[in-house]
Amino acid sequence: MPQTQFPPQRLLLGPGPSPVPARVLEALGRPTVGHLDPHFLGLMDEVRAMLQGLFQTANEMTLAVSGTGMAGAECLMVNLVEPGARVLVGVNGVFGGRLVDIAQRCGGEVVTLEKPWGQVFDQDAVIERVKDLKPDVVALVHAETSTGAHQPLERIGKAVRKAGGLFVVDCVTSLGGAPVKVDDWHIDAAYSGTQKCLSCPPGLSPITLSPRAVKHIDNRQAKIPSWYLDLSMVRNYWGAERAYHHTAPVNMLYALHEALVLVHEEGLDARFQRHRDAAAMLWEGLADLGMSRWSDPDHSLPMLNTVVIPDGVDDAVVRSRLLHDYDIEIGGGLGAGKGKVWRIGLMGHGARKPVVTLVLAALREVLAGS
Ligand SMILES: *Cc1c(COP(=O)(O)O)cnc(C)c1O
Repeated sequence: MPQTQFPPQRLLLGPGPSPVPARVLEALGRPTVGHLDPHFLGLMDEVRAMLQGLFQTANEMTLAVSGTGMAGAECLMVNLVEPGARVLVGVNGVFGGRLVDIAQRCGGEVVTLEKPWGQVFDQDAVIERVKDLKPDVVALVHAETSTGAHQPLERIGKAVRKAGGLFVVDCVTSLGGAPVKVDDWHIDAAYSGTQKCLSCPPGLSPITLSPRAVKHIDNRQAKIPSWYLDLSMVRNYWGAERAYHHTAPVNMLYALHEALVLVHEEGLDARFQRHRDAAAMLWEGLADLGMSRWSDPDHSLPMLNTVVIPDGVDDAVVRSRLLHDYDIEIGGGLGAGKGKVWRIGLMGHGARKPVVTLVLAALREVLAGS
């Protein structure tokens, strides 16, 4: 007979999901109402307003796509990339590579900019390429969770706009942990996820689109090839019409709402500073243990730290001991970092001093024993 399952209490310090605060978990268990219930529609309006604050944008089209971060990625690409469109994508890790794949599936003619993993693109180099190529869409990853690289973006969007294109940004890991200034940076479309620095369970993808991006959707010739992710229909549910498209994941939206209330209570600047402080403390401790960073030290993320695994240390043994003896999850390497690095996430509710103290102490004990 199958029985009720009680998952272990893990401390989630990998690439996501991150630790979920009790208030957010409790929100998930509130009474389910209909997805057209006036109470729920009011909650959705607040989710939108709080997401606008977080994305630092006035964009009317700001909502949470049903699905995880990759659903948001796919949603923006299927809506914005028409067959034959020229798409410039920066690839310096796993997630840039996925954007290439998605853009190609949409029929885009993809040109890549490449950098070794762990490094970022020079903004002037990107801008030069944009001037040359005049792409219809330019897509970059703000926080490359596979490498720990923190891509500077603030000047690129303006150049993309000047060349007539749309600027799409993956801010899945940065949103809620570092500034994402959609309007100031001239970003036309951005997607994120709930389970990184928002410390909500996985299941929704916050997105925002500029009026230019919306106009592009209104004017496009080819029908949007995804029914579920077609924003010309989804927006009629999030907008004044409240027209049924698909049943919103009601309880997930309760959780996201509560996670956003927590962000609101803390304030963005304090939250970003807390992420930087936690990372600084982590690196002080890692340096004491003789460990070094994999990503470019001048362009590294505070919420996702890539640590070079010391020679002679068994990656799998250390991670398994952390998990089983200490209930701590850290991430292994992905792609070019596989077997070479650990990925220690200090995201959202995980970016706190007691958490850093604990993971450093556990690592010290495990390394001493291995
Ligand atoms: C986690 C992540 C994604 C994918 O999100 P899922 O929620 O796993 O679908 C996309 N991009 C980046 C940079 C990520 O860190």
